Amino acid sequence: MTPEPNGVELSVCSSCQTRYLPTDGPCPRCGSDQFSPYHDPGLGTVLSSTELVHPAAGWESPHRLALVELPQSVRLLAVVDGSLPSAGSLVAVSRDGELYRARPEPVSPKRSERGEGESPRVGRPDASFEPPR
Ligand SMILES: [Zn+2]
Repeated sequence: MTPEPNGVELSVCSSCQTRYLPTDGPCPRCGSDQFSPYHDPGLGTVLSSTELVHPAAGWESPHRLALVELPQSVRLLAVVDGSLPSAGSLVAVSRDGELYRARPEPVSPKRSERGEGESPRVGRPDASFEPPR
């Protein structure tokens, strides 16, 4: 069973524009109960991931889970299809019944604008530095 890449349905608060899950309650930021449906494309960043060797009944081992952050800090727990993603990697999240599923997203050059991997020049020891007196 392969879920379609259908993204994630969220709610967006009519008062403060916060996007949130679950979609059936008041805004977690301002408490307003005025909201509209919002469709997020489901491209998120893995915050953490784990592999369960002894998963709950009904799941096959290894059972991989990832905490994924979508834009505007919306976070959800997703079942991983494929290998275990590392923190910071991109995944595409889709709804599959009562579950969210995440699969690795190929990294395109456009997405590598975070500056990760670059060596910053700040903080380098400087031999000529003298502390203030
Ligand atoms: Zn709000």
